[in-house]
Amino acid sequence: MDARATVTHLVKHLASGAVKVVDLTAPLGPDTPVIELPPEAGKNSPRVKVHKISRYDQDGPLCAWNWMELGEHTGTHFDAPVHWYTGKALANASTDTIPLQDFIAPVVVIDRSKEVQKNPDYLLTAESIREWEAEHGTITHGSWVLLRTDWHKRNTSTKEFLNVDGNGPHSPGPAADAIAYLLDRGALGFGSETVGTDAGSAFMMDPPFPAHHYLHGAGRYGLASLANLDQLPPTGAILIAAPLKLVGGTGSPLRVVAIVPT
Ligand code: MN
Repeated sequence: MDARATVTHLVKHLASGAVKVVDLTAPLGPDTPVIELPPEAGKNSPRVKVHKISRYDQDGPLCAWNWMELGEHTGTHFDAPVHWYTGKALANASTDTIPLQDFIAPVVVIDRSKEVQKNPDYLLTAESIREWEAEHGTITHGSWVLLRTDWHKRNTSTKEFLNVDGNGPHSPGPAADAIAYLLDRGALGFGSETVGTDAGSAFMMDPPFPAHHYLHGAGRYGLASLANLDQLPPTGAILIAAPLKLVGGTGSPLRVVAIVPT
């Protein structure tokens, strides 16, 4: 099919509902859970604050507008390679310099929601990804790989979402060997439903925060606090994830959508 026909068909299929658009984004506002790092890891990001400029009132009778305080890594957000020390010297590694074509890519979804329901500390391993590939096919070079855990259902409660007790945070994520395996496969990036791409226990791993360490060291990307991964097929969808063009940005809140054949 020629390129023009491909685009025409996509538009027709979107209009008819044969192809649907799925929102993978959590609401962003003052209630959005924000990661709470242990003091050894450094400072933390503030929560979202919305300040009124005017609201059809004496401060501006014609319009409503606000200004906001928020961290780059807040809510559903993109991690750029420059976010981690392992990626700090790479070219095209901040949100304003990443190649544009990387913002539209195929996506595969590894569903481990049943495992996570039993064990909130669940770690995705390379072996588990190989099992997934035996069922669904080899992960295509240049794909986003998303871990479905149904953790997004906790997103309305910071306590439930961060799930911290006396031993630290308990949330699922990838083991170091899983990320190494995905990089061998040529994955574009890794995405999760939790507050960051790494598991709650990742600070204690070797290296600490292996998803950040290896992905960003390889010039690859992360997506965190994704929602609605239960609405995606294991393969066959396209992800659109374009961060704000922040100058030197290490990451950015963004709207993530998937284009899904029905
Ligand atoms: Mn982040």
